[in-house]
Amino acid sequence: VQRAEGAYLQLESGAWILDAISSWWVNTHGHAHPHIAEAISQQARQLEQVIFAGFTHESAVRLAERLKQRLPEHFGRFFYSDDGSTAVEVALKLALQYFYNRGEPRKKLLAFEHSYHGDTFGAMSLSGEAVFHKPFQDHMFEVQLVPLPEDEQANNSLEVIERHLADAPAAAMIVEPLVLGAGGMKMYSPSAWNKIVSYLHERGVFVIADEVMTGFGRTGTLFATDQCTQKPDLMCFSKGITGGFLPLGLTAVADTIVEAFDTQDRDKFFLHGHSFTANPLACAAANASLDLFEQEETWFNIRRIELRHDDFRNTFQPPAAIHSVRQTGTILALELAADDAGYLSQRGPELYDAFMQENILLRPLGNTLYFMPPYVVTDHELDWVYNTIERVLNRMFANAS
Ligand SMILES: *Cc1c(COP(=O)(O)O)cnc(C)c1O
Repeated sequence: VQRAEGAYLQLESGAWILDAISSWWVNTHGHAHPHIAEAISQQARQLEQVIFAGFTHESAVRLAERLKQRLPEHFGRFFYSDDGSTAVEVALKLALQYFYNRGEPRKKLLAFEHSYHGDTFGAMSLSGEAVFHKPFQDHMFEVQLVPLPEDEQANNSLEVIERHLADAPAAAMIVEPLVLGAGGMKMYSPSAWNKIVSYLHERGVFVIADEVMTGFGRTGTLFATDQCTQKPDLMCFSKGITGGFLPLGLTAVADTIVEAFDTQDRDKFFLHGHSFTANPLACAAANASLDLFEQEETWFNIRRIELRHDDFRNTFQPPAAIHSVRQTGTILALELAADDAGYLSQRGPELYDAFMQENILLRPLGNTLYFMPPYVVTDHELDWVYNTIERVLNRMFANAS
């Protein structure tokens, strides 16, 4: 790829292809957006990087203050790191150390089946999608898995949680709110989330919302948990936080958790940091991206994509081999029949190649094809993708039968 603009990438061959997966879910306002590019350039000339221990800087403070206004009131503190995996590691370590600091250590952790939380060891251990970490199984810590809610009541999930909590209390459950990304764009309702979170809170278990993928408009609201009445205790952000320009991780921490670290006892400090914690360039990009989220046009576009996806779902006559067409906000997913269903399904590379030949970048998660465009995608481009999906799938499944 030699350059990019809006929803397009230009290859070395000169061909322009449509980035229909937002470059692995990071890009929000389109590629090379001038407002974000300018903010990074200005920041680079003023302060490019500084130690974030004992020092702070305006872009980091401003970003935390702006996000604080958009999150539930109990999120008083923010911890910066590098990417989605480290944002998850920080949330997990804070939850565990909370109980350690109080002298009541807890070991048990819960996560959804099929969940994905990153590729570092803690994040891998928390992930319920085994395909990504099989070779490391012997080196990972134990996590209790919970099935995804089957309906709004989520009783099937609650029953399993109850069993897991029977012998010892858990420190936390980590959850991707409303949409499980890498596990195959699996979706569930805000009411199911509310049921699960209130059940966990009644039993003193912290809830970590991994909004690394769902954050920054993907589900139709700034955060997926904005659609839920029950709020988490820790939140992880990355991917879209900088508009997709630079890596940055951020963990929002509830005041109750922060209190356990308010001590002069050095053994109880949270001794975690990365060299590029709160990198000023990344923070400047994130602030510029937030400026764009403050513009009505961005929300108009998000709503437009949502409605167009919905139209497609209602009019598309899927071949019988398509098991499910589902949507949350700007994320549209189609699950195809496959003998080898799952992330490693051969359907994935087949579809990838078929769409690349049409100059559309769609990179299925195995037999799950999904469309998640940058918000600047036009109606014309949306139609192009819908029509191509229809044509490619009809062809593929006509040939198969
Ligand atoms: C991508 C992702 C991560 C990991 O983020 P990286 O920046 O790739 O480390 C964690 N959680 C979720 C839900 C993700 O989609």
